[in-house]
Amino acid sequence: MNTLRAPVNKIIPFSNVDGPGNRTAIFFQGCPFNCLFCHNPETIHLCQSCGVCVKSCPAEALSFDHEAVAWDSGKCVGCDTCIRVCPRDASPKIRWMTVEDVLREVRRAAPYIEGITTSGGECTLQNEFLIALFTEVKKLGKTCLIDSNGSFNFEADPRVLEVSEGVMLDVKAVRQEWSDKLISHPREMILHNLDYLLSVGKLYEVRTIIFPGCDRENGETVRYVAERIQDRCFYKLIRYRPYGVREKYQKLLGEEETDAAYAERFAALARALGAKKAYVV
Ligand code: SF4
Ligand code: SF4
Repeated sequence: MNTLRAPVNKIIPFSNVDGPGNRTAIFFQGCPFNCLFCHNPETIHLCQSCGVCVKSCPAEALSFDHEAVAWDSGKCVGCDTCIRVCPRDASPKIRWMTVEDVLREVRRAAPYIEGITTSGGECTLQNEFLIALFTEVKKLGKTCLIDSNGSFNFEADPRVLEVSEGVMLDVKAVRQEWSDKLISHPREMILHNLDYLLSVGKLYEVRTIIFPGCDRENGETVRYVAERIQDRCFYKLIRYRPYGVREKYQKLLGEEETDAAYAERFAALARALGAKKAYVV
């Protein structure tokens, strides 16, 4: 019996924005990046049981259990006060789940889904768990996609790709200074993964965020990606939206969302360079 456990932030049984068709989306807790524009920063760190949120919960759904914070989902009213007050970009509302726990939820949704997508946080931090989960999901005749920030070295350990249809890869920046500012992480592995996943036919989609007024940075990233992927995978250009971004970073990135027509200019550039499946969301 597989005894692996992984921290799961949430499971959305039916999602139509996490890959093709209707999919169960599984969001794991924990991410090695700290992107300025992160819309769910509460998935970045594991809870340190500091107790700040316990005192703030209006429904008494949080308590200490042997010095760790315990969450009572039955009492929780979903107000997200705990997430707002957490000083560590964590959440007390995670579940340490076994592969069988997750599979139980996938099986319930199975008649209505095409497959599953694992996301985060960064799901590849749970590589062994993913391999075990995908192996079982395949037996149900469902597809498995990996939504990744590109920090995992897929070439060094390709086992998860063998049980997956492919990766939806974030390529946020190609210029080093832009990458340092946006994701606080070296971008070499991401760019390596872009080439490697293409070479083995496991790149399902690339995503780049288009920021308002950043002509040079947006253009450089879009050009770099488009010239490589051509029409071999989808290229999703995501308009920056400040909603959900941490306040301190909203100030750095600006408080305006990216205009649709502005983003379309970069999609047109990508298509002109051969990335025929480029589109804006
Ligand atoms: S979302 Fe957090 S603060 Fe709100 S009721 Fe649930 S546990 Fe308590
Ligand atoms: S979720 Fe955040 S505030 Fe709550 S106990 Fe954990 S680290 Fe502290």
